[in-house]
Amino acid sequence: MMMKKLDKKTSTYKIDLSAIEEDGTFECPKCGKAISPDDESEDNYQILDTTVVNDELAELVISCAKCKSTIKLTGFQQGLDA
Ligand SMILES: [Zn+2]
Repeated sequence: MMMKKLDKKTSTYKIDLSAIEEDGTFECPKCGKAISPDDESEDNYQILDTTVVNDELAELVISCAKCKSTIKLTGFQQGLDA
């Protein structure tokens, strides 16, 4: 199992998607660039790591394409309607 150590000089931000807008778009905490998890073009971000629990995406670690900040996304919808 490969463990990537995060550079301590690089800040890691954490965003709870369940607390933001419906379409999942959020702004980079550092540079304010709008990032949509549905945009898979990698123009806005790069996926560094994903965590899947029970076939559901539980955690997504991305890197902002503009400022290179590491952003950890949690709170993905689990396919349940409240
Ligand atoms: Zn950024």
